[in-house]
Amino acid sequence: MRTAAWLLAVLILAAASSAAAQEKHLIDPTPPGSLNPEPLPPLQNPDAPSMPAKELFARKSTPFPGPPRSIGGYFDGCLAGAVALPITGPSWQVMRLSRNRNWGNPQLVRFIERFAESAKKVGWNGLLVGDMSQPRGGPMLSDHRSHQVGLDVDIWFTPMPDHVQSREEREFGSATDVVAPDMLDVDPEVWTHKHTELIRTAAQDPAVTRILVNAAIKKALCREAGADRTWLFKVRPWYGHAEHFHVQIACPAGSAECKPQPPPRPSDDCGHELDFWFKEFDAASATAQTEAGADAGRVAPRMQADR
Ligand SMILES: [Zn+2]
Repeated sequence: MRTAAWLLAVLILAAASSAAAQEKHLIDPTPPGSLNPEPLPPLQNPDAPSMPAKELFARKSTPFPGPPRSIGGYFDGCLAGAVALPITGPSWQVMRLSRNRNWGNPQLVRFIERFAESAKKVGWNGLLVGDMSQPRGGPMLSDHRSHQVGLDVDIWFTPMPDHVQSREEREFGSATDVVAPDMLDVDPEVWTHKHTELIRTAAQDPAVTRILVNAAIKKALCREAGADRTWLFKVRPWYGHAEHFHVQIACPAGSAECKPQPPPRPSDDCGHELDFWFKEFDAASATAQTEAGADAGRVAPRMQADR
């Protein structure tokens, strides 16, 4: 009997492993937006206890009024007193306006403004800003598990063009995938040292707690970082994140109800922790994967879509 149970466990683990191995190779492309987004249909029974929260949050097009408060966890929270990042700034432009996800805690908006300025100093023309949060934060109907408390932002690996983009360009322009087709490294045709400097600049901002990039990108950063490795502590390998990187900032001082994430461990993790991502999946790496997942912040493997 015990043998049968053991066999069953092995079989279940094997099935789970092959699924994870396939998912590891998926990339999260940035879907096109829309010039005429259809409003969501009204809910028949919004107060039903079974109604998923994401249906309710997706239908709120304005922030909850009052002072800014990031409430709860990055994966299960919401946001009051959100402000919108202006869609065109001196050194950033917001993409995919139809998604209405350029909302955040004012501290996130300040970070983006600051980061856009310092990125210019390392030769990055300006930021293309992807998703932040919905007007009231919370879970979304598509793509993310995090981004719920107005403290996460996705930044494209494509630099801002020199002109103010039209609505069409913002909805349909494609992001640059910087990972090579074999997923083992960055694509030398598109990757530049400026990409490293861009991520380093974000990581060195004191408000930033964690940055998620594809493992192939982390590998390139490990190679190009130079002597100071401390900024790499914050840069964690994860699924997807080949067309954009995800930046998370800390709970702001004014948000007492904000649940902080545990800080990443103080290591550049450029050694065997990184090798795991490039190995064929086996039972031993299943453990490593669980740890990597916990480290990246409870994002399920499907969350290559954690954009
Ligand atoms: Zn993200």
